[in-house]
Amino acid sequence: MTAKGNHTEGDPVELLLRSARDEAVSEEFHVTGVMMQYYEVCKRELWFASRHLEIDRDNASVVRGTHVDETSYAEKRRNVSIDGTIAIDVLDDGRVMEVKPSSTLVEPAKLQLLYYLWYLDRVVGVEREGVLAHPTERKRESVELTAENVEWVESAIRGVHDVITSDSPPPAEEKPFCESCAYHDFCWSC
Ligand code: SF4
Repeated sequence: MTAKGNHTEGDPVELLLRSARDEAVSEEFHVTGVMMQYYEVCKRELWFASRHLEIDRDNASVVRGTHVDETSYAEKRRNVSIDGTIAIDVLDDGRVMEVKPSSTLVEPAKLQLLYYLWYLDRVVGVEREGVLAHPTERKRESVELTAENVEWVESAIRGVHDVITSDSPPPAEEKPFCESCAYHDFCWSC
């Protein structure tokens, strides 16, 4: 996760696009899909992750998410890395797939997938549709980059920039999944 400096000139969306195109910028700004997901799940989690704080790989939710993602639909998709910033799974029919263990946190997963579609469209110049899959629940949902979704993605990009360039993390707000969060001890240990 990259946030060089604490202040930016101009719109973070433009800054991200110019950074992705290797144009000269006063401050590089790169956003990964996971950062978008964190932004939607918990902005404090995003801030911690942007500081490269140690994550507990034995954390139950992390392990479960990794296991499902690595083993589901493996025969039907190819992993493609773009610019060293985003890694996407592409199905045989060209759609971009995001696999999540459950539909409980569907909005963060949808934002992550939409960001991939936005990045492909705006940076690579390729239009793609997406599919959000929850294999353990046998659910699939088609996702498209509509004008409304573009606004959502670009608003989130600006929000990510605000969070990760802040000198201090947003305050902790208790959420149903705090217990399984890798940063639980940073928030709730007395
Ligand atoms: S423990 Fe809760 S408040 Fe703290 S970073 Fe994790 S999700 Fe956010």
